[in-house]
Amino acid sequence: MSGTPDAPSASTSPNLLDVREYERLVERLRHMATSPVHPIPEETLARIKDDYLAKHRKSYDFWERAKGCIPGGVEHNLSLEKPFPLTMDRAKGYKMWDIDGNEYVDYLMCGAPIILGHHYDPLDDRIIDLIREKGPCTGCTSEYEVLAAEEIRKLMPAVEMVRFLQSGTEACMAALRVARVFTRKAKVIKIGGSYHGWSDQLVYSLHIPGTGPLEAAGIPLECFANTIDVPPNDFDAARKAFEGAKDQGGVAAVIVEPVGGESGTHPVHPEWNRHLRQLCDEFGSLLIFDEVVTGFRVHLGGAQALFGVKPDLTVFGKIVAHGYPSAGALGGRKDVMAACSGTGSFDKAYLGGTLAANPISTAACYHALRLIQETGAVEKAAAAAGKLTAALNEVFATRPELPFTAYNYGPIVHYETTGFLHVRLDDPDALMQHMLRRKVAQEYQMVAISQGLFTLAGTRMYTCMQHDQAAIDRTVRAWEYLLDLIPKG
Ligand code: PMP
Repeated sequence: MSGTPDAPSASTSPNLLDVREYERLVERLRHMATSPVHPIPEETLARIKDDYLAKHRKSYDFWERAKGCIPGGVEHNLSLEKPFPLTMDRAKGYKMWDIDGNEYVDYLMCGAPIILGHHYDPLDDRIIDLIREKGPCTGCTSEYEVLAAEEIRKLMPAVEMVRFLQSGTEACMAALRVARVFTRKAKVIKIGGSYHGWSDQLVYSLHIPGTGPLEAAGIPLECFANTIDVPPNDFDAARKAFEGAKDQGGVAAVIVEPVGGESGTHPVHPEWNRHLRQLCDEFGSLLIFDEVVTGFRVHLGGAQALFGVKPDLTVFGKIVAHGYPSAGALGGRKDVMAACSGTGSFDKAYLGGTLAANPISTAACYHALRLIQETGAVEKAAAAAGKLTAALNEVFATRPELPFTAYNYGPIVHYETTGFLHVRLDDPDALMQHMLRRKVAQEYQMVAISQGLFTLAGTRMYTCMQHDQAAIDRTVRAWEYLLDLIPKG
């Protein structure tokens, strides 16, 4: 591409990104965030909006109704689509249908947990049988709890013990508490731009590194007194944070998304995880990998297997129940996990959850993990993602003046068009740039949806083992259509 850094090649093995490839990718994303946006002209947009409304009339009416009883008429952060959210009816395989009957190639995959494919009969049949034969829950331990914990442990050697919780947010909260009890230290390092759920302490520097409490309405600033925000991939800043915390209670843990913030939107330097491991060892702190998205998706052994870095604690979320509800877990070293309550001792981390570890979620976890292994789902989803990434970059290459790019971490595909999360706070008009770039990306997203593509926030696509060539071809056609709407030159 003239005047722009080279497009990264498609890869199914993110650990193979070497330092040079990583640097080129980062440079490319930065270039995107500092070069002009390419909006769809207003008159074309107006036409598409009319068409969108006509195609989604029932969703629109349902949204109007929802606004009467649900704030904003929408509860799912990932489906906050413009100009209005769509109401889904059903999903099967890689496809999803809304209540107007429109069909989508779905790349949201419920926000990542679906890798076998939606509504996968061999999994659903087992859960339906369980409910029919045994009932949904008793509030006591069930056999599936142990089967599921043993299955996770088998796949991830760093996970010696497991505690099931009800969401990724809860599991992140639990990880911090357990780390503090174990280390008797107070501070927690969070990497800028990463997401670890919405608990107090962790709604800090979300989406764009350095933004601090920008999105923390309703959270007293005191809640962040022990949260240290470190910019991603800043090796020196990480060391300084550990050193600076020595006189302030020390660092209990570093919590990190191992492929980089927002599941790799802010790509990870190939040596970053290892660097954090070394710092944790040097300063007597714990390394927490948040594998809510990456666990059993980028590799059966999670990102920790891919990068060859062993965390002390691992956080799981939706992925442990393959889309079934009440999904979260904390796993890790036996001695560290012994700091969880469970034996009634007052010096343990207090954790709970009435519906945590219920038979439905734990059976879904056990059977999903078995089925993922039996079907080779991770490899298949990664192969589809590799092809999709290559196909997207080929389409983008037909318009070399546009800085668009796609890259993937196994079955996590990122496509960037305006770089709205790559704006830096020291850029002139950073916030305005972010808003403008996000608006244009949302307009592209509206077109993509109207062409039958459903993605996460207009920048991310999760593949399942059932995404096939037909799905990729439809995706490419939708993008060809979209690119034609953007004026040339
Ligand atoms: N960590 C990461 C990396 C996530 O992506 C998410 C959710 N997308 C969470 C934590 C929070 O999980 P949950 O939505 O289940 O609370």
